[in-house]
Amino acid sequence: MLLPDAQLKKQFGIDMSSLKPQVVSKLREKAATYDDCMEVAKMLTFLVYCMQDAPEAPPEIADYLEALIGPIVPNSTLCLICLKPLSFDLFRKARRGKAEIETAHSNPRSHSAANVGFAHRLCNIAQGPLTLDEFYDWMQDVLSRVRP
Ligand SMILES: [Zn+2]
Repeated sequence: MLLPDAQLKKQFGIDMSSLKPQVVSKLREKAATYDDCMEVAKMLTFLVYCMQDAPEAPPEIADYLEALIGPIVPNSTLCLICLKPLSFDLFRKARRGKAEIETAHSNPRSHSAANVGFAHRLCNIAQGPLTLDEFYDWMQDVLSRVRP
């Protein structure tokens, strides 16, 4: 949840009235707590080290993440949406506006470690604002008409 506007201004110098309406609406819809964001960052870091072709995690980081989440298993990070393996090389190919890999959410309206992962950009765009369950139901419905 986003803090009240007055508190954002006083505590952080953020003037919500100076932002574009689309930005304000996105912030209000998707704001997460600092703690949730830190948990998400740890999970995403863990998932990166579990990708195909990922560099080996420095020992102190590996120990920290493994104590927190579990063993780092190479080649085990899958696209959250299509479940194909994801390669670290996708980050190397990423260019502004043309990334082939993005962070993704099982439920796009919730930002927590249990709900995040990486996905192909195309998969993430296809999922749109739907939860994964809603998306798979929608896809199945489409496919039942296209390929009965
Ligand atoms: Zn995918």
